[in-house]
Amino acid sequence: STLFQAVELAPRDPILGLNEQFNADPRSTKVNLGVGVYYDDNGKIPLLAAVHQAEVARVQLAAARGYLPIEGIAGYNKGAQELVLGKNSPLIGAGRVLTMQALGGTGALKIGADFIKQLVPDAKVAISDPSWENHRALFERAGFEVVNYPYYDAVTHGLNFKGMIEGLRSLPQKSVVVLHACCHNPTGVDLTVDQWREVAQVVKASNLIPFLDIAYQGFGDGLEADASAVRLFADLDMTMFISSSFSKSFSLYGERVGALTIVTGSQDESSRVLSQVKRVIRTNYSNPPTHGGTIVSTVLNNPELFALWDKELAGMRDRIRLMRKQLVEKLTQYGVKEDCSYVMKQRGMFSFSGMTAPQVERLRAEHGIYAVSTGRICVAALNSKNIDTVAKAMAEVMK
Ligand code: PMP
Repeated sequence: STLFQAVELAPRDPILGLNEQFNADPRSTKVNLGVGVYYDDNGKIPLLAAVHQAEVARVQLAAARGYLPIEGIAGYNKGAQELVLGKNSPLIGAGRVLTMQALGGTGALKIGADFIKQLVPDAKVAISDPSWENHRALFERAGFEVVNYPYYDAVTHGLNFKGMIEGLRSLPQKSVVVLHACCHNPTGVDLTVDQWREVAQVVKASNLIPFLDIAYQGFGDGLEADASAVRLFADLDMTMFISSSFSKSFSLYGERVGALTIVTGSQDESSRVLSQVKRVIRTNYSNPPTHGGTIVSTVLNNPELFALWDKELAGMRDRIRLMRKQLVEKLTQYGVKEDCSYVMKQRGMFSFSGMTAPQVERLRAEHGIYAVSTGRICVAALNSKNIDTVAKAMAEVMK
């Protein structure tokens, strides 16, 4: 018998599995709404001009590629923490914030999870119901028991705020609460600022550990507005974890650009915490890669490139909004009786469309249009050329 004889075949990742199925579909009219990627109006992943300029400048420098420090590029980390907490954050001024370059938002969550496991090994981790699939898997693999708090209300296509608050209140002290700071994946349903304030107060009063995941900053209402949840927590003077992803906002998916930010209680705590998180990084992958980090750092620290990036982000955000609006209009036009305006209230790349699993299956089988079985569609995969076909097909299965 070999070492691997008893190894079982792991289940396929539901979304990557959908991509494989899509690629094998011979229909020329097929559309993939299952992915979590921003496409431009031509159906292409954009290379942002700000990114391109930073990249050209970097190549011309012909820079050597030594190892980065374990925690990554200093300018990158400073830029990343200012994006979430604000340039004038008193916490940053007090030396209570540390940021580590990470391998995407996923890498930031993983380093944070491993460190929390060391601090509070028996903590429960609470994620929204539903959440990004990898939240549960990642925290379970880090050794935690993962539970859900109520979030989505299928009847209103909105937030079950009362359920969420009660769910959070019922968690044991020192549970980790993973919160989508903006543009909730997969539902697109976000909290209002007032609701965030209440959540932050409950998290503080119940002595929970907030882990704010911000993977779509800039895709909701803009870079500053989308950080308001994080800043509310900061205003309550709480210690917390923040995982940032730049995969979408810089359209740099394959470069693995993200950051883990930790707010501690004091400057002295910060240096001890940093030393421990560096050990976590050192024993996982030693130090982060140079290319993507240098590009992001250049854009974040150069006022002209930053302004250009901000403008390009606004362009992506506005295009998604337009697609939401047109989708709602066309669904009505093609005969859907139910009020679908909730699609316009949702934020970010995704929409819980309201389609049921059998409707999603019909959409695939009859029309070659691929969505996640939960009804999640990527609005950023719609464009002026495919939206009419998609809306017509969706209306046909939803009627
Ligand atoms: N958190 C959430 C909520 C996400 O949707 C994603 C990306 N799909 C991530 C984290 C991870 O991002 P990255 O690709 O940068 O690892």
